[in-house]
Amino acid sequence: NLTGKLSGVIKTLRGETRLTESNIQKALREIRLALLEADVALPVIKDFIARVKEKAVGHEVMNSLTPGQALVGVVHQELISIMGREKSDINLSTVPPAVILMAGLQGAGKTTSSGKLAKWLMEQKKKKVLLVSCDIYRPAAIHQLELLAEQVNSDFFPVKPGQKPNEIATAALDYARRHHHDVMIVDTAGRLGIDDAMMQEISQLETLLQPIETLFVVDAMQGQDAVNTAKAFADALPLTGIILTKLDGDARGGAALSVQHITGKPIKFTGIAEKLTGLEAFHPDRMASRILGMGDVLGLIEEAQRSTDQREAEKLMKKMKSGKGFDLDDFKMQFQQMKKMGGITAMMDKLPAQLSQAAQNVKVDDKVISRTEGIINAMTRQERAKPEILKASRKRRIAAGSGVTVQEVNRLLSQFEQARKMMKMMNKGGMTKMMRGLKG
Ligand code: GDP
Ligand code: MG
Repeated sequence: NLTGKLSGVIKTLRGETRLTESNIQKALREIRLALLEADVALPVIKDFIARVKEKAVGHEVMNSLTPGQALVGVVHQELISIMGREKSDINLSTVPPAVILMAGLQGAGKTTSSGKLAKWLMEQKKKKVLLVSCDIYRPAAIHQLELLAEQVNSDFFPVKPGQKPNEIATAALDYARRHHHDVMIVDTAGRLGIDDAMMQEISQLETLLQPIETLFVVDAMQGQDAVNTAKAFADALPLTGIILTKLDGDARGGAALSVQHITGKPIKFTGIAEKLTGLEAFHPDRMASRILGMGDVLGLIEEAQRSTDQREAEKLMKKMKSGKGFDLDDFKMQFQQMKKMGGITAMMDKLPAQLSQAAQNVKVDDKVISRTEGIINAMTRQERAKPEILKASRKRRIAAGSGVTVQEVNRLLSQFEQARKMMKMMNKGGMTKMMRGLKG
């Protein structure tokens, strides 16, 4: 598992002050394996590792970081910079209609993405959109797009029976001009594999339509295979961007790096659900974290360092580590830190799945934070340090003092117990160790 690997990486480099060719050898090997696990294609990994090595060697390790943290940081940053180098906004700056041509294998998600993109452009950019299908080989395909057009309330170009793709394109272009459409999205046929006839057809469409965007739609689950497909399409067509679909599945994200590396084009959108709202602008930072397979642990740690007084954090960390002496004052402090870090909801998003699940058991939301503080404030110092002395009469007094019911006081106490348990779990899972490792 990747988190394990990376904390391994961190450990190997303890005590070094500068990253050198030799002290990152082992770590780079682990990172290579990690990328392979994430489904990044081999030739892409080779290039990537070479680049990281170049960036990392001689990298000075700041006081507050361990060398391991510095290297993981370089890897993370390099991933983000590769994936975010090109501008990923959709380009519509041309004389209308701005034509968007969808290319890709059958089943990649071209038709679905066409519908999603129409919806997105109508809602986000207030554009008048025409959906056009050039997929004449399966009658159901044109109908599929027509249904999507109905669902998203966009216009749909009525194809006449027997029309060839070129004829459809020409007629649709004329139609869009006459009806003052801002954008015309052209869905095309795909094949299960790459073949010349398909490539020729779409390349002709490209010449005829002169699209401002030619988007390569690719299924993230393709993993390693995405490279060959991407290469074939990039050779045949002047691609301008990528839509990476089905990221809601268990795709490990490696295809994102591979496809960008091969085509040199930016990912403009990601498909994150079957439904029509399931299209998102691409976030290189999130994808980098996904590829590194560690939730956004890095971000969480960075934020914690920014917003938390270092000494307080260390004290708390010590208590979390031992699981002993963790009292209601610490619990309150945790809540206050969560508030500084953008609330517990923001924090939960950043934890790896397993841990986040454990955290769910604590069942607190942002609104609860201030009530919790109120209740704890109503306790005496002794009560906060030793919650077990809280019997019925004390609970009644605290409830009255903070303007809540006794049930709420009880709920808080059981949440506190859950938190204590969670900390033990975190210790078992090596989370604290890892956080300490990264913190230096
Ligand atoms: P096309 O052959 O390239 O036009 O692919 P389709 O648009 O017909 O999509 C093929 C299948 O993938 C359909 O069942 C879609 O519902 C599904 N699909 C497309 N995009 C996504 C996505 O982002 N997430 C999920 N879960 N399914 C998707
Ligand atoms: Mg289709």
